[in-house]
Amino acid sequence: MPDSSHALDPRKFQDPFVTADGQQRAVVALTHLTTMWFNTGSLCNITCVNCYMDSSPKNDALAYITLAEMRTYLDEIDAGHMQVEEIAFTGGEPFMNPDIIDMLGEALARGYRVLVLSNAMKPMHQKRARLLDLKQRFGKALSIRVSVDHFTRTKHEDVRGKDSWPPMIEGLRWLAENDFSMAVAGRTCWDEPETLGRAGYRALFAEENIPVDADDPGQLVLFPEMDTNADVPEITVHCWDILGVQPESMMCATSRMVIKRKGADKPVVVPCTLLPYDTAFELGHELAQSSKAVNLNHPHCAKFCVLGGASCSPN
Ligand code: SF4
Ligand code: SF4
Repeated sequence: MPDSSHALDPRKFQDPFVTADGQQRAVVALTHLTTMWFNTGSLCNITCVNCYMDSSPKNDALAYITLAEMRTYLDEIDAGHMQVEEIAFTGGEPFMNPDIIDMLGEALARGYRVLVLSNAMKPMHQKRARLLDLKQRFGKALSIRVSVDHFTRTKHEDVRGKDSWPPMIEGLRWLAENDFSMAVAGRTCWDEPETLGRAGYRALFAEENIPVDADDPGQLVLFPEMDTNADVPEITVHCWDILGVQPESMMCATSRMVIKRKGADKPVVVPCTLLPYDTAFELGHELAQSSKAVNLNHPHCAKFCVLGGASCSPN
């Protein structure tokens, strides 16, 4: 039976401006849009335990975004002379989107650094020839971050399913052999000290000749477990000083993400990669409308950003 003493208090995260105990809720202003994310769609080729997107081969709540839709946002960035540095793609599994290679090529041709988050399994393998072409044309401007939940096959497959390890390792090796810019994302839900985790990945990378520095938090990004039912404090305007955390360091201070809901006639902008389903966080269809400050009215804001230090940002 779940421990209800630690379940999320239902009075919390109700009013966007005021916390359950009557204090002013914290907000994060957009300081400078540096990373523009595109959610390619929520479908995935596998079903992981605790995927924060609830992705699976059946979840199509977020539709495949198209090249034409992506272009309208890149055009808006260009027209507004916004100093965006990086275009990033997440899913679901981005390589399942039929337009993914064309979208990568479009962003690269416009001079952006491009990041793709992938499980490096079959959908990526099927795009190998076209990825090599992009690599030859744009070199290290294209970077792929592969999810390796644990450095052992057993624990990785506990999360990702039986026999998910061999195709991932094949994808990782292929990226390394072909000199792609690459990184790895792991999890820290194993009750292991981080030093032990990094040592385990270091040994795996050495054995497989993977050019990722396990001691560099930008190259091996370790994410905390996402227990979405656990109780968590609400963040007030006073918390920044108390915790010594800067609002400018939150992902939503420098990022926005474009998603397209199933059945919607056009995409919409949300503050970050962590909240694709909560419609209260929608910021409008255009980037011009999306620069408003974000009220931290979601448990993820507290647990993963302000208190947990989690971020999907490569920086
Ligand atoms: S591979 Fe990634 S997107 Fe797909 S189910 Fe697993 S965690 Fe979710
Ligand atoms: S989840 Fe994090 S990045 Fe997203 S809106 Fe909340 S504080 Fe910002």
